[in-house]
Amino acid sequence: MRLPSHSANLLTGFALLALTLAGCSATPSTDGATDGTTDGAKIAVVASTNVWGDIAAQIGGDAINVSSLISDPAQDPHSFEADAQVQLALSKADVVVENGGGYDDYVETLLRGADNTTATVLNAVDISGFDQEPATGELNEHVWYDFPTVKKVAAEITKTFSKLDPANSDTFIANEKAFGAAVDVLAADTAALKTGSAAGSGVAITEPVPLYLLSAAGLINKTPVEFSEAIEEGTDVAPTVMQKTLALFSEKTVSLLAYNEQTTGPETEKVLAAAKAAGIAIVSVTETLPNGKSYLSWMTDNVDAVATALK
Ligand SMILES: [Zn+2]
Repeated sequence: MRLPSHSANLLTGFALLALTLAGCSATPSTDGATDGTTDGAKIAVVASTNVWGDIAAQIGGDAINVSSLISDPAQDPHSFEADAQVQLALSKADVVVENGGGYDDYVETLLRGADNTTATVLNAVDISGFDQEPATGELNEHVWYDFPTVKKVAAEITKTFSKLDPANSDTFIANEKAFGAAVDVLAADTAALKTGSAAGSGVAITEPVPLYLLSAAGLINKTPVEFSEAIEEGTDVAPTVMQKTLALFSEKTVSLLAYNEQTTGPETEKVLAAAKAAGIAIVSVTETLPNGKSYLSWMTDNVDAVATALK
């Protein structure tokens, strides 16, 4: 259901974005544009979430204008509903970065609806190379928690920007190199957790959100798959499944609970309370960037939070 405040938030997001962009440029914009697309020299980028939007911005720097459709940390991206503002942004996009894997299908639907046939569409799940229909289970579409995928997407973004703006290609490549080096540090810090005293510990999740990160740290997800799927899909958790999930904490099968702050309800709150009562460490995770964070600072926080929880 779309609440009136939702579209207001979206509008505010766009207005803030325009302000931010104006604040960043050396010469203040004089055209009074609010959508950032009237400056023909810049590549117009639309990302479905501010995670991909920030990664695009790290590479594109001043040569691009990027708008992210979902930036509100309080919003569940799985239940995002697009409106006319989104369609407008997409109609003007030169490059679209979407997550894929069923996460943000509305992007391509709207792109077609907006009659934008020229935009280059980068789909992170496609770029990841992951099997999108694995024989066992489902693809975990939260691929921005997978550092190798993030580097692959950054490389595709760099190639695309370089094609559209060859004069700035050297800058894009240098930016990608710096970004990639920082991602390598995160990956190394995560891999280092495999050799710690908590190596191979069990973990619980409310949603598959951070699983790539947790498994890169050598941790084993013990959550009944029926539980995390029900939470992600917004369906009811069967009583037996709930019982099994709660037992992870009372029996201390897990050393941490990764709790998705963006998809909460009575069932996840019950799980959170059980983990707290059992003294299990809680690692809060989100699907989009918390306010004031970049992808790199956010992921650094996430890796640090996992490391701290395992101490
Ligand atoms: Zn999710």
